[in-house]
Amino acid sequence: MTEYGKNEYDVIVVGAGPAGLCAALYAGRGMLRALTIERGAPGGELLNTDLIEDYIGFESIKGWELSQKMAEHAKKFGAEIVTDNVERIRKADDGWFDVATARGTTYRAPTVILTAGGTPVKLGVPGEKEYAGKGVSYCAVCDGAFFRGEVLAVAGGGDAAVEEADYLTRYAAKVYIVHRRHEFRASRILQERAFANAKIEVVWNKTVSEIVGTEKGVDHLVVLDTVTGGRSTLKVGGVFIFIGFKPNTHLVEGHVKHDAAGYLITDERMMTSIPGLFAAGDVRAQLTRQVTTAVGDATTAAIAVEKYLAALREQEKAKTKAAAAS
Ligand SMILES: Cc1cc2nc3c(=O)[nH]c(=O)nc-3n(C[C@H](O)[C@H](O)[C@H](O)COP(=O)(O)OP(=O)(O)OC[C@H]3O[C@@H](n4cnc5c(N)ncnc54)[C@H](O)[C@@H]3O)c2cc1C
Repeated sequence: MTEYGKNEYDVIVVGAGPAGLCAALYAGRGMLRALTIERGAPGGELLNTDLIEDYIGFESIKGWELSQKMAEHAKKFGAEIVTDNVERIRKADDGWFDVATARGTTYRAPTVILTAGGTPVKLGVPGEKEYAGKGVSYCAVCDGAFFRGEVLAVAGGGDAAVEEADYLTRYAAKVYIVHRRHEFRASRILQERAFANAKIEVVWNKTVSEIVGTEKGVDHLVVLDTVTGGRSTLKVGGVFIFIGFKPNTHLVEGHVKHDAAGYLITDERMMTSIPGLFAAGDVRAQLTRQVTTAVGDATTAAIAVEKYLAALREQEKAKTKAAAAS
């Protein structure tokens, strides 16, 4: 039987999006002493998503509703969730992880499951910071309703950009999708939906080079033609930026293997190159990032943690036995 000190656990789950909540559920079912640390409300990106239509078993469900169901389900199996911002995860000399938070607490465990997702990539153009929250947004579900009847732009060409442009037409009179190439990366079904939407106009081969506004908010965009290098303006009341996510892997101190985009590389157990540190969901290098893949990763990670801890205990027993015999 493991003796636990204050703030000591078998496993610490960082983040309570779909991956974190699912890991917490499985850790609870596995009778592990587990703590989940979440900086905001449980649900992660689900809270920024209006409708989920591809989570098996739910033909159509609101993002917030699925979050709530997941959190309730995890808690039913004993998940303990604290609200705090994890600032650093470090493997200490004794082999345990120190998980330090903004509120000044250091939680400790021999294993950590990192499920911290990602944060939106910024365009990095003049006006972006200045008009953030005043017409510049990274979340259509959160901010779309503020732009009823207005003309909007979406920057990007992947799934999120094309899907969210479609969503924004519920409120906006017109939505431009400004895309730097001559074709989208988005999945075919989302493209077809956008092309069929009369309120969407695609502005091919252009990037947003400046966001210009007044004291009232965004007024227009300066766009750069990626083929001719020419500049023109686009009159819009807001711009929604969906050009990718940066995985929240900076929390890990020390080198951990990652791909070129910074996503953590794991083995088939979801263990990273740091023994005892597991990763699941959007932080992990993989083909696609969906709710289904996040919960699948988390299931594997939590079960792998159980096995890893059992192996650690066996090693400790063997060491104690050897010490007693010598
Ligand atoms: C606009 C949009 C629409 C989408 N639509 C769909 C869809 O229709 N179907 C689908 O399957 N997928 C969809 N996705 C993708 C899906 O939402 C993600 O793949 C999924 O949420 C990933 O889960 P996760 O738990 O790995 O990460 P996240 O959902 O990002 O959760 C990570 C959690 O970690 C927390 N966290 C981060 N850093 C810290 C820290 N330092 N300390 C404490 N907590 C921290 C965050 O607050 C967050 O709650 C969509 C994504 C977006 C952005």
